[in-house]
Amino acid sequence: MHILISNDDGYRAPGIKALAEAMRRFGRVTVVAPDHNHSGASNSLTLNRPLTVEHTEGDSLYVLSGTPSDCVHVALTGLLKDKPDLVVSGINCGANMGDDTMYSGTVAAAIEGYLFGIPSIAFSQIDKGWNELDSAASVAQLVVERYLATREDSRPILMNVNIPNMPLSALQGIRGTRLGKRTCAENVIEEMSPRGFPIYWLGAAGQPQDKEEGTDFWATTHGFVSVTPLQVDLTAYKRVPDVKRWMDSDIPTCLAPLPTIK
Ligand code: MN
Repeated sequence: MHILISNDDGYRAPGIKALAEAMRRFGRVTVVAPDHNHSGASNSLTLNRPLTVEHTEGDSLYVLSGTPSDCVHVALTGLLKDKPDLVVSGINCGANMGDDTMYSGTVAAAIEGYLFGIPSIAFSQIDKGWNELDSAASVAQLVVERYLATREDSRPILMNVNIPNMPLSALQGIRGTRLGKRTCAENVIEEMSPRGFPIYWLGAAGQPQDKEEGTDFWATTHGFVSVTPLQVDLTAYKRVPDVKRWMDSDIPTCLAPLPTIK
C-alpha cells in the first residue's frame, strides 16, 4: 500500500511528522507538503507562477512552494511515479468542524485526493498546540485500520476526522457524524498601521450553534473522535425546483427596461 500525506501547516509541523510515522505501518509513505503554513487556504490552486519542489529524505519527502491543494494535485498529476492507494492530510493543529471545513487547507488536501478518485482522510486535533499528538497519531492509525478492514468496496470516500485533545485512555470512542454549524464569525479587529492607515485582522470563528447529538461538535465535546463523510457536490438539490421556476426561460431578443427597485 502506498499512502500520500500532506497538510496545511507546512512540512515542518509536528502533526505531519507524527502522521507520517503512524502511517508507515500500513506501507510506503510519501509526504508532499507546503514549504510554509497555509492554514485557511481552502482549495486554492496556484495558477499565476510556477511551483518549485525540494526533494529530500530519499524518496519520501517533497517540499512544494504551493498550497495544500497544489501539493496533492502536483503529486497526483506528475510528481509521483505511482498512484497512491490512500491520501491522508494533517494532523492539523486545531479543529476543522462545521463550517470550518469550507476554509480548511487540511480538508482541501484530502478533497484533492478524492477528486482524483482516491480514498482520502483529513485529520485534525482540537485545540492548538498538539499537546496530545501521540494520542492523535494513534487515533489516525485506528481510523485507517478500521477503514481498510471494514470497507465493503474500494469506492473512494472523503472523511473528515476531528480528535479531542486528550490522552488515548480518556477518549470515549469513535463516532460517525455529520457536520454541525457555527454562528457567523465575529467582527474584524481594526487597528492603525504604523504608517497611518487602517489594517484588519479577521475576527474569531463563530460559536457552535448546531451541536445536536450526531454532529461533530457533539461527539468531540463528549470525548469521542468524530468521523464525518464529506461530499464535494455543492448543489442545493432541494432548491433546484425553485431556481428552475424562477429562471427557466428564453433570452428575449430585446431587453425590457429594468423595473425601478423601491
Ligand atoms: Mn492548519
